[in-house]
Amino acid sequence: MTAFLKLLARNRLALWGGVVLAVVIFLALITPLLPLPDPDVTNTADRFKKPFSEGAFLGTDHLGRDLLSRLMWGTRLSLAVGFAAAIIAATIGAAIGIIAGYYGGRTDNVIMRGVDMLMAFPYILLALAIVAALGPGLMNALIAVAAVNVPFFARNIRGITVGIANKEFVDAARLAGMSDARIILTEILPNVVPVIVIAMSTTIGWMILETAGLSFLGLGSQPPQADLGSMLGEARSALITNPHTSIVPGVMILIIVMAINLLGDGVRDALDPRLKSGALSRPMPATLVDRKHVPKPTGDGILALDDLQTQFHVKDRVYKAVGGVTLSVRPGECLGIIGESGSGKSVTALSVMGLVASPPGVITGGAVRFEGEDLVGAPYEKLRALRGNKVAYIFQDPLSTLHPLYRVGDQLAEAISSHRRISRADGRANAIELLKSVRIPNAESRIDSYPHEMSGGMRQRVGIAMALANDPDVIIADEPTTALDVTVQAQILALLNDLRRERGLAIVFITHDFGVVAQLCDRVAVMYAGRIVEEGVTGEVLAAPVHPYTKRLIDCVPELGGGRRVLAAIPGLPPMVDQLPEGCAFAERCDKAAPACRAGEVALVAHGTRAVRCIDPERAPRTEAAQ
Ligand code: ADP
Ligand code: MG
Repeated sequence: MTAFLKLLARNRLALWGGVVLAVVIFLALITPLLPLPDPDVTNTADRFKKPFSEGAFLGTDHLGRDLLSRLMWGTRLSLAVGFAAAIIAATIGAAIGIIAGYYGGRTDNVIMRGVDMLMAFPYILLALAIVAALGPGLMNALIAVAAVNVPFFARNIRGITVGIANKEFVDAARLAGMSDARIILTEILPNVVPVIVIAMSTTIGWMILETAGLSFLGLGSQPPQADLGSMLGEARSALITNPHTSIVPGVMILIIVMAINLLGDGVRDALDPRLKSGALSRPMPATLVDRKHVPKPTGDGILALDDLQTQFHVKDRVYKAVGGVTLSVRPGECLGIIGESGSGKSVTALSVMGLVASPPGVITGGAVRFEGEDLVGAPYEKLRALRGNKVAYIFQDPLSTLHPLYRVGDQLAEAISSHRRISRADGRANAIELLKSVRIPNAESRIDSYPHEMSGGMRQRVGIAMALANDPDVIIADEPTTALDVTVQAQILALLNDLRRERGLAIVFITHDFGVVAQLCDRVAVMYAGRIVEEGVTGEVLAAPVHPYTKRLIDCVPELGGGRRVLAAIPGLPPMVDQLPEGCAFAERCDKAAPACRAGEVALVAHGTRAVRCIDPERAPRTEAAQ
């Protein structure tokens, strides 16, 4: 709620609308307490007094009634009718929409066709017809305005409900044995309330105008009772000779409707879930860079990270997601990055091509060199030319990386055509080739499938095919097999392995699974709390881990056929990256931790092919190198 108010207050116009509306509503509420003359007492001797004259601040109308008093009472009435109509329309419309959307099928059909029939009549005509049938009067005008707005709410809310009613959490509620009424009240309604509020905030202004319109035509409030519309209507004949009688209610209508609409727009922007998920603060095309100096190149690979640091700046907190990572990978080589969830693997991978969302992401230091050229802070055009072309990504969830509404063939062709010109026929032929290269059977017909028509393993292959589309030099695979079962995982690992041997691809493979690392990777880097704690040749690291964390991590892996043993879970949790401890981040959980571990920075020290960030390694790596 406070977040909502803050968002709203950030919108200046909405804030002003809110303030003006609050003042008007406040005045309307206290009108009976103010020392105003009776709004309905006529005094023909004093007709058409000008504004600011003695005893009548805003003048008088054609019957000598005090305009200020009539304005205040009229505003009160118009606001009450407008708000009441909006609440009635929203309640009935939302109820209809939710029921139609939730039950679907025939219920939906019958209800919505009825709503459509209401919608088929021009709006004002329908309101006029309703008032004509019911007879003129303010109450009937209210009913008419509410009735003509019901279809708008019903349609809107039905659309939202249909989407929600098929979501998994609604299925879960059904499985839990909840009644329909309870599901509607506790699962559906909370999700549509923001939409109802948005629809209401943007239509109240209209409803006040419509009520005023009916009163203007003499169908709403009846004389002598004043509302803004009837005041305008009665002043019509004196528009030229005594314009102030029209201007006073006219300006008030303008002020109210403007204020409501500005506030309504603000409410919509602040409440709309689609806008909240980032549309108000659009991420930049490339991650923000704010680094003090450029480190010297150390690695010699095709892709080399030097002391890369990426942080998230959220309000006054700094999350050091990546705290100085140095890596390099050569053509034809596969480098594994392994670590617990939250250790900064994905952020490292995304930083390479400037894909970390900014705000809040900022690259605060280090360099990313592709073929020796630094990409941190490179112009967007340069990054764009490399993304997907020279450096391609494979992500964990192929269903969310593929567009649900396009055929996979078209998506593959698009991946190619965003980097080079290609005819439709060539694009198609290429797409078939790609699907074949990732061993998808019947590639010729599969190319016309939609993502939802494929299994998870198949979709992940499409993801790999897409990464291969432009024959990249480097592929960064972020847990590409985590969501797959082991047989499909084995096939995909074999596929990646073949591809790197055939095409000389450099692969950065992110995972939390030592089995996968053992199968695929030449070298492995172990990450903890945003830093590399151990790096070395895969076989050596697995056989003789040197950092206590690596050792504990490997001890957690169950061994097939190794007999039953106690799995040594690591006690405690990884540290929060916004409050990293001084010194070694693992010290809290390490059974060998000494005061020196917490005293200060522990450096990553190279011992031959191995590098370790520990002052008291499990065993001296030197002896191992000497073996
Ligand atoms: P993983 O190793 O599981 O891939 P990530 O690289 O996704 O981990 O995340 C690394 C750290 O960065 C985590 O501690 C996470 O909480 C933090 N982080 C990621 N995205 C954001 C964000 N938008 N704002 C703040 N912190 C973030
Ligand atoms: Mg991740």
